[in-house]
Amino acid sequence: MAFDPRDPYDAAALYDMWLNCSHCPATFDFEPGGAIDLDYYHRIGQQARHDGWSVLPTRETADELVFTVLCPACTERLGVDGCEGRLEMAAPAIDEICRAMRDASGQAA
Ligand SMILES: [Zn+2]
Repeated sequence: MAFDPRDPYDAAALYDMWLNCSHCPATFDFEPGGAIDLDYYHRIGQQARHDGWSVLPTRETADELVFTVLCPACTERLGVDGCEGRLEMAAPAIDEICRAMRDASGQAA
């Protein structure tokens, strides 16, 4: 499995750089060992999903996507189920970041 811009967890990890709970000071704890690339964000996103974090994407405008991120404790307290749905389309901003990162890693290889 690789980074999926339509997976809300992957997208939120990329968009927000790391995952912070919207309702408390909790930060998703992840100690990366390697390069910061799309695989890195994919690992964070999927680990957060596995650990019970919730990522709730909200489309503000046609090209602006806002993620509400909840830690496992707030997910339970607020009674929010994790969003398992895929985004119907990736936000243009995320497509742009993906393209830039793929270009950068292509040059580095
Ligand atoms: Zn929280």
